[in-house]
Formats: sequence, C-alpha cells, structure tokens
Amino acid sequence: MTSNFFGPDRTLLGYEDTPWSVWVLGPDDIHDRPTLGEALISAAEINASLAAMRMESTSEYDPVMYAVVLHHGYAWSRKSPHCGRPGCQPCVNKEATP
Ligand SMILES: [Zn+2]
Repeated sequence: MTSNFFGPDRTLLGYEDTPWSVWVLGPDDIHDRPTLGEALISAAEINASLAAMRMESTSEYDPVMYAVVLHHGYAWSRKSPHCGRPGCQPCVNKEATP
C-alpha cells in the first residue's frame, strides 16, 4: 500500500470520527487513544518494540512496521495544520501557541 501521510492528497489511514489513535503499518492495526499524549506514548512504545524486533532479526525480508499517530484518521505531526473541525481542542490549543 502506498500512503501519502501529509499534504493535500494525504491518505485516510484510520477513522475520521476517532480524534486520536495509533496506526501500525504492517499489521494495519489501529488503537484508539483518549488524548494526543497517550497516542504519542503508545506510538513510542510500539516503535521501540518494533525496533528491538528488527535488531534481533536475522532476516532481510521482515516486513517494515512502524507506528504513526493519527488525528481524525490522518497522520499527525507537530506541523500538521488544524483539522478544520469546529472546536477541536488539540488544534485550537496548538493554534493559540506561538
Ligand atoms: Zn483537530
């Protein structure tokens, strides 16, 4: 699957009605999380264990797997623009931050 994480033609990876989730590329798992903070912690933990598995593996053919934080189904980063949902607290707070 070719995914465009950011930009105008970005791919919807999760569910638009879920504010925060973590998507794992490879198994295509989606884990809902109540806040951005918890989504970031989950993604970090998943990425750490995937990296450890990768280092212990002797096969070149293991699938590439990593976790991405999703906001309303789309990949999220600190530079992501406001999702455009009225009153979306994480976006509104971010816009208020210089
Ligand atoms: Zn938002």
